[in-house]
Amino acid sequence: MSTRSAQFEARVARREPLTDHLVRLVLDGVEGFESTGVPDEWVGLVVPGQFQSRYYTVRSHGPGELTLDVVVHDVGLVTEWAMRDCVGDTVTITEPKASFDPPPGAGWLLLVGDLTAMPAIARIVETHPELATYVVAEVPDDLSGYLPDSADVTWLQPPAAGQSALARVVEGIDWPDGEGYFWMAGESAQMRAIRKHLMREVKLPTSHYDVMGYWRATAARQPRAVDPGPVWRAGKAAGKSDEQIWAEYDAAQEASDG
Ligand SMILES: Cc1cc2nc3c(=O)[nH]c(=O)nc-3n(C[C@H](O)[C@H](O)[C@H](O)COP(=O)(O)OP(=O)(O)OC[C@H]3O[C@@H](n4cnc5c(N)ncnc54)[C@H](O)[C@@H]3O)c2cc1C
Repeated sequence: MSTRSAQFEARVARREPLTDHLVRLVLDGVEGFESTGVPDEWVGLVVPGQFQSRYYTVRSHGPGELTLDVVVHDVGLVTEWAMRDCVGDTVTITEPKASFDPPPGAGWLLLVGDLTAMPAIARIVETHPELATYVVAEVPDDLSGYLPDSADVTWLQPPAAGQSALARVVEGIDWPDGEGYFWMAGESAQMRAIRKHLMREVKLPTSHYDVMGYWRATAARQPRAVDPGPVWRAGKAAGKSDEQIWAEYDAAQEASDG
């Protein structure tokens, strides 16, 4: 593995479709990877031909290996790459960061999320078998066996492809008694609504919850006059160097801006 500041190169060793919308990628060559030990840790992932990163939870890691479970939706930089046979490709990952931080007295966990949150939820449940754990999972696929048996899971279908009703679901939730910790991740607008609800109605102290927007439905992909993916592929096919390709890309961007 080569290391440049806080970035690592890794190779896709295996690609295993788990369900219609979830693909497992096992990366190897990551000997220098140091886990935070926090179960919702994530890395930035840059796939071949791209320079923008997307974030993915470290579902598991072992000596020299890292497993990411990637949701494939309609369009997207990583989605389109992960839908293809990407075994053998070299990717860049960034050093891990994490957020899950229950207070010391927590007696229960309430974990809510859509498909993108399932890798983190699975790892949180595995890491905390001692806590009563309730999960609300809004997923389009049958994920039987994906979450450890120790969790009490409520499975919900999304209202429509690419949509989420989790804000409404959380507003109607029966909270467990006593002190606990609420962790949630999914579509960003839903998460904003939930933070307001937790502050105003439930009045949870901020140390007792963590609500993260994992993706944006309404913003859609920022329209780009020049899409870097096809520019890079065409440049490579023409035998150009990366420097030449990105210089031409910058020039095309400037022309379209001006
Ligand atoms: C801390 C963190 C951890 C994450 N962990 C995971 C993980 O383990 N697995 C995982 O799959 N994702 C995870 N995500 C979410 C993932 O980073 C985003 O979904 C990302 O936008 C996907 O990139 P893309 O290149 O496929 O699509 P993009 O190029 O970013 O987006 C293209 C289009 O797809 C739409 N879109 C993006 N994501 C989704 C989606 N999930 N469902 C439907 N439409 C979508 C966008 O609105 C946009 O219109 C995580 C995000 C964060 C912040």
